[in-house]
Amino acid sequence: MSFEGKTAVVTGSNSGIGLAAARVLAENGASVVLNSFTNSDEDHALAASLAKETGRAVRYIQADMSRPEECRRLISEAGQCDILVNNAGIQFVSPVEEFPVDKWDAIIAINMSAAFHTTAVALPMMRAAGWGRVINIASAHGLRASPYKSAYVAAKHGVIGLTKTVALETAAEPITCNAICPGYVLTPIIEKQIPDQMKTHNMDRETVLRDVILVKHPSRQFVTMEAVTQTVLYLCSPAADEIRGTSISLDGGWTAS
Ligand code: NAD
Repeated sequence: MSFEGKTAVVTGSNSGIGLAAARVLAENGASVVLNSFTNSDEDHALAASLAKETGRAVRYIQADMSRPEECRRLISEAGQCDILVNNAGIQFVSPVEEFPVDKWDAIIAINMSAAFHTTAVALPMMRAAGWGRVINIASAHGLRASPYKSAYVAAKHGVIGLTKTVALETAAEPITCNAICPGYVLTPIIEKQIPDQMKTHNMDRETVLRDVILVKHPSRQFVTMEAVTQTVLYLCSPAADEIRGTSISLDGGWTAS
């Protein structure tokens, strides 16, 4: 597949799934815009090394996805956006009655509203170019709930609703919008939860992985990064031209029950 001449903007892409998606899109010929809220030397070095590795134009644009105007500026500054991967996300775990309001607001903003703002600016660019892909990295938590994850579950369910709506609004055009719903992928967002879970449950790392984190996966296996990035590529391929408004689960069987 070649995305030569196309530009992909991936939000929250200085680590984890976002970075892996950006890499695979650049490897397949796209110019890429990396993003996060930080503006460090490492962020810009990452863009430079990805450009060197893939031979593609790779830029890093700092923009905080918790702020509507910055979400919109990210796409305007990119100048072109044929493939938009809404991926930025954070997590916080607490019972609903103790859930800090600022954490609720941040999760709703970054994990859900950011996708609305970026899509709103990207769609006219896709229409002008005559082709476009919006891919929202939702979660199995967009389809199922877990206790203590009220904001995350609400935001991810919301993203799936947004995905369906955008898909209907673009249904007669060569622009598609779909969601990918991974179960657990071993990225920094998950790594950060392991020490706390080890303490809470008085378990070693391996037992936490198997009996706490992967307990939702009947397979007891993590979803690989490659599975997610290959699904991104598939949704960008001509074979997926008529896949519109759907949520693709990659979750070791979690949502089968
Ligand atoms: P990660 O922590 O490695 O990546 C999150 C990315 O979002 C980082 O690049 C971070 O810099 C960025 N980010 C955070 N706040 C931001 C902000 N205000 N503005 C811009 N960028 C911001 O975690 P990940 O696992 O790669 O998560 C990526 C996406 O995948 C998230 O939406 C997450 O909810 C989703 N997801 C992850 C898993 C998993 O098991 N890892 C499962 C399902 C869904």
